[in-house]
Amino acid sequence: MNITARTSVAGVIGHPVTHSLSPVIHNAGFASLGVDWVYIALDLAPNRAQECLVGMRALGIRGLSVTMPHKTDMAHLVDEISPQARRLMSVNTLSLGIDGRITGESTDGDGLVSSLQAVGISPAERSVVMFGAGGAARSVADALLRHGCAHLDIVNRTLASALVICDYAPDRCAAQSTNDQAAVAAAMQRGDLIINATSIGMGRPATDSTAIPFDPALLRPNQVVVDLVYHPLETALLHCAAAVGCTTVDGLGMLIHQAALQQQLWTGQFPDVQAMARAARAALDGSTSQAPQ
Ligand code: NAP
Repeated sequence: MNITARTSVAGVIGHPVTHSLSPVIHNAGFASLGVDWVYIALDLAPNRAQECLVGMRALGIRGLSVTMPHKTDMAHLVDEISPQARRLMSVNTLSLGIDGRITGESTDGDGLVSSLQAVGISPAERSVVMFGAGGAARSVADALLRHGCAHLDIVNRTLASALVICDYAPDRCAAQSTNDQAAVAAAMQRGDLIINATSIGMGRPATDSTAIPFDPALLRPNQVVVDLVYHPLETALLHCAAAVGCTTVDGLGMLIHQAALQQQLWTGQFPDVQAMARAARAALDGSTSQAPQ
């Protein structure tokens, strides 16, 4: 990396942000493109989103990734917002236009879909069971529905949050409470793509069978099991699913692909996702704590 006075600056804003993998992933992506960009982590305290936008314009920061706790605030503050980000009221990408206007977009859900497509899995016509109904789950549900999934069961501890997601496409969605074991079993029976979008399993060893969001006896060998949690890469859920014979997909693919889509928005070019994944795996191998996005 050869940083000069002409180098374009991008970064991630969040709080906390010190363990973020994004600088490693994005700088590997910029290097693969051969562009003169650098990516840094910027700790931004809660309630300072408005000041951040002023600073972004004043300093000419070309692009910012947005993570907790600023995604919703940014959706209210940007000059322009994509239809997807408006639907979710969540922005994970800020882009500075040449006119000084800042556009907010969301690449999280499409990142998950792209990561599945990269390993030959299409969500189209699938019956999906998604555990969790937080911010990540909302963006994933929106993308799965846009990419033609046939049915989506959303299972969550707090039923009200799952019902919010059902409103995206009431004819194709159903909300289930985690406590309703019969409903969860029925959903797992019809599901062929199972997604963990809860934080259960995060920072827990793969051998910890209590760190799984549902009874693993419900898994069948013909199912695809995806975990959004990427620390550790092999979660207890993926460990169990592999033992049953399911196809498993870890959370790193989504993290890489949502970043690649951000770089495409900023530079107009799609980076080498394999190079980004190699850099992320090397960083994860060397870390012992949860690495937020
Ligand atoms: P969030 O908005 O805080 O949502 C957390 C979800 O997990 C909620 O549905 C919550 O249920 C559920 N949950 C948490 N603890 C639980 C427990 N003990 N029992 C049952 N349910 C529990 O978080 P998020 O932003 O959606 O992130 C969720 C996970 O996805 C995190 O691990 C995050 O690191 C990961 N993630 C990965 C990527 C990627 O690129 N791979 C991107 C984004 C997020 P309630 O609604 O009942 O509280």
